[in-house]
Amino acid sequence: MTIFEKIVAGEIPCNKVLENDEFLAFHDINPIAPIHVLIIPKQCVKDFEEVSGEIMAKLTLFTQEVTKHLGLDKKGYRLVTNIGNDGGQEVPHLHFHLLGGGKLSWGNLAKK
Ligand code: AMP
Repeated sequence: MTIFEKIVAGEIPCNKVLENDEFLAFHDINPIAPIHVLIIPKQCVKDFEEVSGEIMAKLTLFTQEVTKHLGLDKKGYRLVTNIGNDGGQEVPHLHFHLLGGGKLSWGNLAKK
């Protein structure tokens, strides 16, 4: 069971932003931006490689609700999903990092 499944099950608390029957958005415990929210499907899918188009379509609509709820839709934000080892994914449960609340930096992320 991933830590995110435990959050969905209510075994671990989270600072919830929004949820519906299928998706949950909550604040990242270790934020790297003024606003750093994780958006997950409640049913565990390992990563972006394994998610269906049907779930992604609904996840897109849910994510748009979250950005409006947080007032990020007009100001801008970044949406990131890490995949696998090179992507730096730590939790094997698909999640999108919603980052915003200020001007975000951008640069060369690759380390040899
Ligand atoms: P990733 O490296 O893409 O798998 O991201 C995992 C994210 O989950 C990291 O940004 C962590 O800070 C975050 N995280 C881990 N445990 C928790 C938790 N209990 N509540 C909120 N965020 C968490």
